[in-house]
Amino acid sequence: MSTQLSTTTAPYIPDTAPFSASQRAWLNGFLAGLYSTATAYGAPAATAQAEAKIPLTILYGSETGNTESLAKKTAKAAENKGFEVKLESLASYNKESITEESDLLLLTSTYGDGEPPDTAADFYEFIHSDSAPRLENLRYSVLALGDTSYAEFCKCGKDFDKRFEELGGQRVFDRVDCDVDFDEPFENWQSGVFEKLSANGSSNGAAVMEPEVEAEPTYTKKNPFPAKITRHFNLNGEGSSKETHHIEISLEGSGLSYEPGDALGVYPKNCPEYVVSLLEAVGLEGSVPVNGKSLKQALIEDYEITKLTPLFIKAYASLVDDAKLKEFAGNESAKLADYCWGREIIDLMTDYPYSFDSAETLVSIFKKLQPRLYSISSSPRAHDGEVHLTVGIVRYVSNGRSRKGVCSTFLSDRCCDESLPIFLHYNDKFRLPEDTSKPVIMVGPGTGIAPFRAFLEERQSTGSKGKNWLFFGDQHVASDFLYQEQLDKLQKDGFLHRLDTAFSRDQKEKVYVQDKMREAAAELFAWLEEGAYFFVCGDASRMAKDVDKALHDIIAEQGNMDEAAAAAYVKQLKADKRYGRDVY
Ligand code: NAP
Repeated sequence: MSTQLSTTTAPYIPDTAPFSASQRAWLNGFLAGLYSTATAYGAPAATAQAEAKIPLTILYGSETGNTESLAKKTAKAAENKGFEVKLESLASYNKESITEESDLLLLTSTYGDGEPPDTAADFYEFIHSDSAPRLENLRYSVLALGDTSYAEFCKCGKDFDKRFEELGGQRVFDRVDCDVDFDEPFENWQSGVFEKLSANGSSNGAAVMEPEVEAEPTYTKKNPFPAKITRHFNLNGEGSSKETHHIEISLEGSGLSYEPGDALGVYPKNCPEYVVSLLEAVGLEGSVPVNGKSLKQALIEDYEITKLTPLFIKAYASLVDDAKLKEFAGNESAKLADYCWGREIIDLMTDYPYSFDSAETLVSIFKKLQPRLYSISSSPRAHDGEVHLTVGIVRYVSNGRSRKGVCSTFLSDRCCDESLPIFLHYNDKFRLPEDTSKPVIMVGPGTGIAPFRAFLEERQSTGSKGKNWLFFGDQHVASDFLYQEQLDKLQKDGFLHRLDTAFSRDQKEKVYVQDKMREAAAELFAWLEEGAYFFVCGDASRMAKDVDKALHDIIAEQGNMDEAAAAAYVKQLKADKRYGRDVY
């Protein structure tokens, strides 16, 4: 039997055809595959079907890396379903290409009080500008990450979702807003999106070979490693009003490895005394069973039972038949937020008592206990098999009750004789330059010094020749100069070329790190001109913004630029990955 191989020139979709570039690309690929090779029986080669993949663009705006990891999961799932995936951070995405997209998934977090994450800021500004292009060719869906403790919950994702629709885009699957416990809503969104895209014929449905799945580390966020704290001590001296612990944790047997700039996830447990007080307030016995354990153990291990938010007040008011509470809960969030300040859930339950009829009803109003992320303060090359943290221990008195940070006091008071559930949170956006000859400028007041101890240890361990400059600040030089001895030694050993400190309460006027930056403006700009990388870590609400302003001012003044030119200079630093921020 002869094999009739026929080849004909495949039809070609001209540029003038009413399709976007990516639609033309797909159609031409599909038609080329259909016509270029015939099988023995004349049917289009099976590979044509598999090769004619449908383009799907996945863009993400990520601050701490959670959104980036979800975007990568979505990309992998999409490839398994036969899509031709383009996965890109909004930071590097060519925004004008948006008009070429036909199927787009956008995942973004919301940062601070409703702002886009740094990596999404430029695209956000573009798409919300009057010159934003029409998007009639676009089918899209948005996944928004946020925290219901903040009034502007998921605002960035909501804004993108609304704006794409205003520009003519077609929403193929409703936006999903995720709180801090995002795994389940993310899975629901992802499966819903693929169902819609496949139904729309946006996927050829060709089940391709399952690609090699990268070997996931044994221990992950869903399966944390039971670690041991090997050492911890208070870094603050006599008379300090702060308590900052240096904590050393063994990674032996975990198979886990990390890089400076990464964070460590820690699953805390609640304070048993707080749980006892809560049980008294709600009139339930700690011994009653719930979800396979005693109620007391469940409250210690599984639920967020301290942080009071406007959302919680509303949920509690819907349960409690108390007219006063219902009236109070009807206030706008800002008023409820005022009540929340300096109070915890136990205060609400004491002010508006309610006897719960069952343990199940009680636990149903709490969110699941979430892990906390801490910037790692060690280099793995300086401390083999260990990971160090620098943790501000939160203790204060308010409304007549002493308060404790859940995770910080779990680390300092309650977990030395039991295992500490940990996982690694990789942060590729916050890394030392690969070229170790590049200068590095680090601004890290308070516990913001954490990743810069890691950076300096790394630069020393690798014999980096690049210059290092640290701006550090805290309240008093005598009691709050964190890692002073180690910093002195790094200076003597030639790995800390400049150290500027700002001890805010050692004089009448406050002195902050940005004041020290301005004093050294000429040299700081000279370092930038030499190609220096600039990093900030610490408080996001005020410090990070003030440091950013100071940086812009220094560049304008020293570079003899106007505001717009200085902003462009900073934008280029970010584009070149030379301006890293790890702030929250
Ligand atoms: P802190 O409260 O930030 O205080 C450190 C120093 O910063 C103090 O001298 C303080 O002065 C000063 N400061 C206050 N406002 C400032 C401003 N607008 N600009 C510059 N400096 C300012 O230190 P901390 O207790 O260690 O808290 C650190 C904060 O950073 C926490 O909110 C923590 O959650 C966060 N943090 C984030 C990361 C991360 O994102 N990876 C890592 C570590 C810490 P005064 O108090 O005298 O005003």
